[in-house]
Amino acid sequence: MALITKAPRGTQDFTPDQSARMRYIEDTLMRIAGLHGFGEIRTPTFEHTELFVRSVGDTTDVVQKEMYTFEDKKGRSITLKPEGTAGAVRAALERGLLAEALPLKLSYITPCFRYEKAQAGRYREFHQFGVELLGAQSSAADAEVIGLVQEALDTLGVTEIRLFINSIGCPNCRPKFQQALKDYYSAHYDELCPTCQDRLERNPLRILDCKEEHCHELAEHAPIVLDYLCDECREHFEELQERLRAMGIAFEVDPTIVRGLDYYTKTVFEFKTETIGAQGTVCGGGRYDGLVELMGGQKQPAVGFAIGLERLKLVMEACGAPMPEEPRCDIALIPLGAKASVRCSAMAADLRTDGFYAETDLMNRSLKAQLKYANKIGARYTIVIGDSELEAGKARLKDMDSGEEQEVAFDRLADVLMEKEASRLYGEIADAQFGLEELSGVLGQE
Ligand code: ATP
Ligand code: MG
Repeated sequence: MALITKAPRGTQDFTPDQSARMRYIEDTLMRIAGLHGFGEIRTPTFEHTELFVRSVGDTTDVVQKEMYTFEDKKGRSITLKPEGTAGAVRAALERGLLAEALPLKLSYITPCFRYEKAQAGRYREFHQFGVELLGAQSSAADAEVIGLVQEALDTLGVTEIRLFINSIGCPNCRPKFQQALKDYYSAHYDELCPTCQDRLERNPLRILDCKEEHCHELAEHAPIVLDYLCDECREHFEELQERLRAMGIAFEVDPTIVRGLDYYTKTVFEFKTETIGAQGTVCGGGRYDGLVELMGGQKQPAVGFAIGLERLKLVMEACGAPMPEEPRCDIALIPLGAKASVRCSAMAADLRTDGFYAETDLMNRSLKAQLKYANKIGARYTIVIGDSELEAGKARLKDMDSGEEQEVAFDRLADVLMEKEASRLYGEIADAQFGLEELSGVLGQE
């Protein structure tokens, strides 16, 4: 039979080494979100199609072209989630979370599905880490979530990335700006790409975001949203900038940032990098004061963002950010013969209970083959156990780095490994301290 070896276009496999990187990134993000008081929300992978049509907006690319929508066996229209906010807000309403103490702070890591042109940094199944902060009107909330992204990027060692912010106003001031855009683009109608010609009536803001070269050029001379903000929106935007400056967060104001989803109001922002090719937007977010009401709840201001985890990993790799080291086996138990094998399995289980990464032979291999495998998994220690060792209740423990051997009774094995680990860690600390002393010596001489 022919091998089935092709995953669907735009999907990825994460092999153990790559999964370790993803997990490290995810753990770091969730830890930092936790320090900001965000609790994790998990929502279904699919929702009623209507949820996304209403919240993301039916004029958006996501809803018009990119959703994985299908009918289930009872004829209901179901969609695999293309983003995380709609589900999180739906769950907050359904579970009554907004009736509890505000602000409500939710975080999530979720797969997302979009039928897009697959390329580097753009997939059909990808993953987002996001937060939603509901109930807070103040620019302090915008600054808090932007600060969270900045801290995450700093902690993960991402250097070459820049923050761009903009305000797209509110339902009071945006119509005037939309009209100005319509007037401007109507005069250039023939130059617009067909999609933007279509957008002109339905969603002129989105034209600013078009990636077609000529539409992009036209955007440079388009009316500027910041000139149309009402007093409230302008004050909010100015306050945000003041807060970011006070927090030491570098940013640039970019009036062409409008974001791809319809629910945004006031603040929008992106973190972009030039290190990973054309798909350089690692994080997108903003305020969405109208969404909760749009979904049938009581009006609640809200702000949030989503980071694409694959793009984050790419930019970390491009910057040479630290990544987790491969786990190293603590001890390989090497049995010779059937009886020893049974004993080694039991000993390995005990050692794991004590927190050691222990392996033993599962393939009836020769001594030589077992030693080779121990080397491959980077075992720090090996212990060879044959009939005579079983009888004596002790064996020679070998340090694979130094080659030193010492006799150890089986019932002392965990203790001895623990002592060795402690002195190894102590050595590392002492080395680091010596380095520091040397450094301060050098500095002192200057
Ligand atoms: P883009 O302009 O790149 O299409 P978007 O505006 O559609 O982005 P959002 O819906 O705001 O993006 O999603 C937030 C983040 O999710 C993006 O900044 C990006 O990091 C990531 N993302 C979005 N679509 C994809 C995709 N198809 N593959 C990988 N990551 C994605
Ligand atoms: Mg997109």
